[in-house]
Amino acid sequence: MLEIKNLHVKLEEEDKQILKGVDLTVEAGKVHAIMGPNGSGKSTLSYVLSGRDGYEITEGTATLEGEDLLEMEVEERAAAGLFLAFQYPVEIPGVGNMTFLRTAVNAQRKARGQEEMSSAEFLKVIREKAKSLKIDAEMLKRPVNVGFSGGEKKRNEILQMAMLEPKMCILDETDSGLDVDAMKLVADGVNALRDAGRGFLVITHYQRLLDHIKPDVVHIMSNGRIIKTGGPDLALEVEHNGYADLIAEEA
Ligand code: ADP
Ligand code: MG
Ligand code: MG
Repeated sequence: MLEIKNLHVKLEEEDKQILKGVDLTVEAGKVHAIMGPNGSGKSTLSYVLSGRDGYEITEGTATLEGEDLLEMEVEERAAAGLFLAFQYPVEIPGVGNMTFLRTAVNAQRKARGQEEMSSAEFLKVIREKAKSLKIDAEMLKRPVNVGFSGGEKKRNEILQMAMLEPKMCILDETDSGLDVDAMKLVADGVNALRDAGRGFLVITHYQRLLDHIKPDVVHIMSNGRIIKTGGPDLALEVEHNGYADLIAEEA
């Protein structure tokens, strides 16, 4: 689904290399987790995949279902089925949450050559999905994320994800700042979307999210590279022993 090979990325503004040869393949139907100390380049990887400005790719490739992701415009990446949930979801004053979602869903469908969803169908689907994420009707009418609590923003992102039905979902520290109940709701929302045709990359600083979203594969990132890959046990090992031993081993 997602294949990253030898990806090297530097900042455009500064001569600072951040990603130093990332290799990572996420298969359809699998959940891969990336853990790693602060500053290791996890968010940079998700920003580069999303097409954010300010980065220069100096070497390597990233493809989504074989298509060159790095050549695509931001909207083309979304249309191709990439979805990113960020650590700090943006607020969009003046745009109702429901209107935003409906526009996004229909733009997505259009890009995929599907017909627009009727108002009635859209309402039915969004109500159902919002309910399972404990998002009430009032929150659907408010401007996107404006005045939402941290937990509400994260749940709203999972709602966006559920509505857009992406092929490849990347979640960057979606658990940060969430209390246990909100984290469980987010995890349940993600688990409900697990599907044979969909890949997940879950970036998290702490192991606790992975108690609820059970990963198939765990990668440890340090200093711009994946330094170790293993099964779910690797997350537990890191939780107990920290990253220092792994980093020393790699060095
Ligand atoms: P992580 O998400 O793993 O904590 P980041 O991708 O946020 O790591 O950051 C990786 C490294 O790149 C850090 O050393 C960070 O300070 C640096 N970095 C990222 N973006 C910028 C930027 N715009 N300007 C300067 N340094 C940056
Ligand atoms: Mg960080
Ligand atoms: Mg980060």
